[in-house]
Amino acid sequence: LSDRLGGVFDRLTKQGALSEDDVTAAMREVRVALLEADVSLPVARNFVKTVTAKATGAAVTKSITPGQQVVKIVHDELIKVLQGEGAPDALRIDNPPAPILMVGLQGSGKTTTTAKLAKRLKDREKKRVLMASLDTNRPAAMEQLAILGQQIGVDTLPIVPGENAVQIARRAKQQATLGGYDVYMLDTAGRLHIDQVLMDEVQAVRDVANPRETLLVVDGLTGQDAVNVATEFDGKVGISGVVLTRMDGDGRGGAALSMRAVTGKPIRFVGLGEKMDAIEVFDAHRVAGRILGMGDIVALVEKAQEVLEVEQAERMMKRFQKGQFNMNDLKNQLEQMQKMGGMQSIMGMMPGMGKMAKQAEAAGFDDKAIRRQVALVNSMTKKERANPDMLQASRKKRIAAGAGMDVAELNRLLKMQKQMADTMKKLGKMGKGGMLKQAMR
Ligand code: GDP
Ligand code: MG
Repeated sequence: LSDRLGGVFDRLTKQGALSEDDVTAAMREVRVALLEADVSLPVARNFVKTVTAKATGAAVTKSITPGQQVVKIVHDELIKVLQGEGAPDALRIDNPPAPILMVGLQGSGKTTTTAKLAKRLKDREKKRVLMASLDTNRPAAMEQLAILGQQIGVDTLPIVPGENAVQIARRAKQQATLGGYDVYMLDTAGRLHIDQVLMDEVQAVRDVANPRETLLVVDGLTGQDAVNVATEFDGKVGISGVVLTRMDGDGRGGAALSMRAVTGKPIRFVGLGEKMDAIEVFDAHRVAGRILGMGDIVALVEKAQEVLEVEQAERMMKRFQKGQFNMNDLKNQLEQMQKMGGMQSIMGMMPGMGKMAKQAEAAGFDDKAIRRQVALVNSMTKKERANPDMLQASRKKRIAAGAGMDVAELNRLLKMQKQMADTMKKLGKMGKGGMLKQAMR
């Protein structure tokens, strides 16, 4: 999205104010980005409608940096929808033994998530947890939960062959009461698709257990189908929240927005891997960034705004876009970096720059190193700064001596300047100039 918006916003900035047509053009891109992130069509449409209204209205009051404004409006609205009223972080487990019902399609990650949450409750809240598998369909399903239970040190209900799901639920309730457990978790069977048999079974279990929480587990990689699944389960069984699994994968997490928008039910947790600790409380900011695919660009914009002078930044940007990046530019950048809290923190916020940030860290890009580099640049003549290619051995010796350093250090600086010049050229070609420009203003 950032690539696309880069182009659109470039046009926006040049005009200085948001017209309705500008907003429409930008919103077309936002809509495509949402669909690419697997947000369902009606939800994407609706979202764009809301944001359009807000963006068009906002332009009247603030017209200095319309592009940034649109980015921020889109981002803020995304968070607002994803977050909703603000979901409770903790599971409701008062009145022991509190039943938690886990529902969802087969393979969505119910059993894994049941164990992850049980471990969380045990480790963080010191709760006594009992887990029971109600999955009588798949022969290995009950053993799977028992093995996980052993692994994390959480009790599981002994397996009694021949029982149906409702009978197991009853026995779990009994055992949890007698055994003095705080919580008992019911891991139900799934189906490949929603069907009547599954819904009947889950309803029957719900009626027996009367759960405090009914969590729908959904594979974060499912796209459009997520809405149907969530609507069905919520309508037939009633859910108190959603757990989005496989968010460690390539999925963009659009399912979260769809389900949230359609059911109004909060996303409570996200699964981030197969390991028992790979679960986290849902963070709307992270998922919003992921859906938009733009890193924490909003924070970057805000931070850059505080520090950079617009005029200077514009001048620099024009040069960068042409692929011009000499020692004066480097010095400028180094000094700005010092103000903004180091290169790592800046690059960490830019999409696709995580790797470069790591490299910068490895290269010793701390404040002290930056000061030394600035000293080297200061030791150059005006002509040398503007045209670093002219630096031959004798000039290098003089510059290094002037800064009290050796030539090797100067060579490293020159290499860095070359790399950055190359990067600027590439960024310019990739059409990210617009994005960078946003960032620098
Ligand atoms: P169930 O049929 O709904 O009970 O699904 P399972 O809990 O058995 O999970 C199916 C597969 O998905 C297993 O191999 C799990 O290890 C895997 N899985 C579950 N949650 C996650 C997750 O958050 N990330 C990843 N990468 N794999 C997961
Ligand atoms: Mg299972």
